[in-house]
Amino acid sequence: MKAVVLRAAEDLRVEPREERALGPGEVRVRVESGGICGSDLHYFHHYRMGDFPVREPFVLGHEAAGTIAETGPGVTRVAVGDRVAINPSHPCGQCEFCRSDRENLCGDMIFLGSSRRFPHAQGLFAESFATHERQCVKVPADTPARVAALAEPLSVVLHALSHAGPLLGREVLVTGAGPIGSLVLMMARFAGAAAVEITDVTPEPLKVAEALGADRTHDVAGNPDSLADPAHPRGRFDVAVECSGHPAALATCLAQLAPGGTLVQVGMYANTQVTVPMDQVMVKELTLKSSMRFAREFPVAVDLLASGRLNVGPVLSHEFAAADAMEAFRTASDRRRSMKVHLRF
Ligand SMILES: [Zn+2]
Ligand SMILES: [Zn+2]
Repeated sequence: MKAVVLRAAEDLRVEPREERALGPGEVRVRVESGGICGSDLHYFHHYRMGDFPVREPFVLGHEAAGTIAETGPGVTRVAVGDRVAINPSHPCGQCEFCRSDRENLCGDMIFLGSSRRFPHAQGLFAESFATHERQCVKVPADTPARVAALAEPLSVVLHALSHAGPLLGREVLVTGAGPIGSLVLMMARFAGAAAVEITDVTPEPLKVAEALGADRTHDVAGNPDSLADPAHPRGRFDVAVECSGHPAALATCLAQLAPGGTLVQVGMYANTQVTVPMDQVMVKELTLKSSMRFAREFPVAVDLLASGRLNVGPVLSHEFAAADAMEAFRTASDRRRSMKVHLRF
């Protein structure tokens, strides 16, 4: 089988890989679609993630769906031919975090397509992937593979919003209108928010946000004062969800939250040293929360996507054959052209 292997910065190759034999409880998934995430792009451009360089040829990808092609001994939950979304999160299941429903904080986590551990946890951008059946969540036959592959980013969004408190009747600000921000927008509306406004520094993603039902969009690069409201000089939002990982967006959130408001940080900061305007936090008694990946949300995300009740169409911008992975990654890196880009296997 073939896999998309990162060999160096901006050097992706489609290479043959051995298929390993299946152990007890394991299945082989024929991958149909894999979504390119911001973290995959970070690896692609920088060949590292924060303090974790890539140290060996590395298959990227942690958002994928496909069909069960083979089952190992003792498999009971899925059968050959079942269509599944693959959960890339492998917490230890034993530690205090895993035993208290906070498995995303597990110190022994293996997350596919991540260089945090060595040998690295190889990712899902491959024609087939062997994994335990418990990592596979069934999707209906009529759910497109690239919709099912959104289960991972949607899980991230569901987990983030679990930190936001009830959204019914609330005013919500989202900073960063990429795929995560767009899904936050969609889910906040689903949860009954009175209004959802969204910012970005390029106009193109904001057009998608309009199509997804944003009440107002703000191009904060073109018009830095767009969010200011003289009627609410101390800010007017109950909840802000920061999805860009940019310090300027964090400052915007803290300035625009009303007194007593809550920030949820979802975007990853490329620079680990971020200045936080704590005077805003202090004077307005703001609550700061952060959200790391997801815990138990994956099957819920699969169900939501399978239900067809989320209009995710506008988020799915491009699909490339895996052989054109370089072009796919370049397209995904251009926020003026693309939203979520998928590889087809
Ligand atoms: Zn992702
Ligand atoms: Zn654990």
